Amino acid sequence: MLSEDIATDIRNAVDRRFESQVDFTAQLVGFPSTRGNEATAQDFMAAAMGEKDLTVDRWKLNVDDIKHLPGFSPGIIDYDNSYNVVGAWRPESPKGKSLILNGHIDVVPEGPLDMWDSPPYEARWEGDRLYGRGAGDMKAGLVSCLFAYDALVEAGYRPAGNVFIQSVIEEECTGNGALACLARGYRGDAAIIPEPSGDTLFMAQTGTIWQQITVKGHPVHASRATEGFNAIKAAYVLIQALEELEAKWNAEKDQHKHHCNHHHPINFNIGKIAGGDWPASVPAWCTFDLRAAIFADDDIQQRARELEDCIQAAAAKDRHMSNRPPEIVYQGFMAEGFALEDMANAAAPISLLENCHQQVYGEALGRSVITGTTDARFFGLYADTPGLVYGPRSVDVHGFNEWVDLESVRKSTQAIALFMANWCGLEKS
Ligand SMILES: [Zn+2]
Repeated sequence: MLSEDIATDIRNAVDRRFESQVDFTAQLVGFPSTRGNEATAQDFMAAAMGEKDLTVDRWKLNVDDIKHLPGFSPGIIDYDNSYNVVGAWRPESPKGKSLILNGHIDVVPEGPLDMWDSPPYEARWEGDRLYGRGAGDMKAGLVSCLFAYDALVEAGYRPAGNVFIQSVIEEECTGNGALACLARGYRGDAAIIPEPSGDTLFMAQTGTIWQQITVKGHPVHASRATEGFNAIKAAYVLIQALEELEAKWNAEKDQHKHHCNHHHPINFNIGKIAGGDWPASVPAWCTFDLRAAIFADDDIQQRARELEDCIQAAAAKDRHMSNRPPEIVYQGFMAEGFALEDMANAAAPISLLENCHQQVYGEALGRSVITGTTDARFFGLYADTPGLVYGPRSVDVHGFNEWVDLESVRKSTQAIALFMANWCGLEKS
């Protein structure tokens, strides 16, 4: 480990710059970077990286570069305006290990504006809280990567190994942004992803499958509804069957070591539904979007088939749907589960992060297992790079009045800066 003095210098440098770190985060929240709208936020990130003398690589995602790779998921919209940005620090002659700091710029839709106490894309700084869509998930974490690097520079050092700060898109629907970084050749000896992990380290995560299911009905005038076939009501039948499958998978949790201690690891979500055209017409169609979780050690193809079989078996029992089976389309996540704790080469970076965390927080680093996915799987499963998800505490991510705890942002930034300094080594600048 670094000497106490150097560690103190680095932590003080984080503190000195913390107000501008929060300001920068608030500005970044001001870009409504929902899927397809990330480009200006990425311009902002690229400019900031350039000012820090990082070599900036900014490129448009291209499906042809990634569609053949393991971990690829079919996108939900095209990549016409979709850019990744990587800021690289490369020492003249690297002596230390390399590190990837990865965060996603995309945020999920804000929902009804009248449910927010203040506009979601006008960050509100109140005491120890920063409110806004994406403040926690995960712009505060993404920005902490830049400012952790800054702290080393301000303390008079540079990392002695390569550091790649990746601002990626598509984490919330496919992960293809992180995959595109792998396809472009970026590799590190470890990766840190400061998702809002609540000051804990994620040891395992579930996988995710998205399916879009469409039922076709038989439209007649509502006055003769018994002669038609209502596609919206039929969707209910399928949703009920999926709920039974969800319960069945949860009942199997004891066979899955990473998630056996969780009360409800598998969550199915019907996240969107649309159907019908007119109150007085029996609906001719209904489409709904399913998000299903799978266990960290599941075979994703097999689980996807189980979902399809469940839907088609329920349809086969129905007089109308048996003649016209529902259509199932894959759009978005086909994300395998991932467990950091299964990686043999994760012990060293985990132990270093534990030390850095202890140094800053004065207490041991907690470990958690989550029931969602993160981009860590790309590093762990497809590049043999331990992907450490570790970041600040945030509340109501994907909800309204999302906020991030700024004290935990400050501390996790310090811990990440210390990790970088110890992992990569330091050279005097
Ligand atoms: Zn996130």
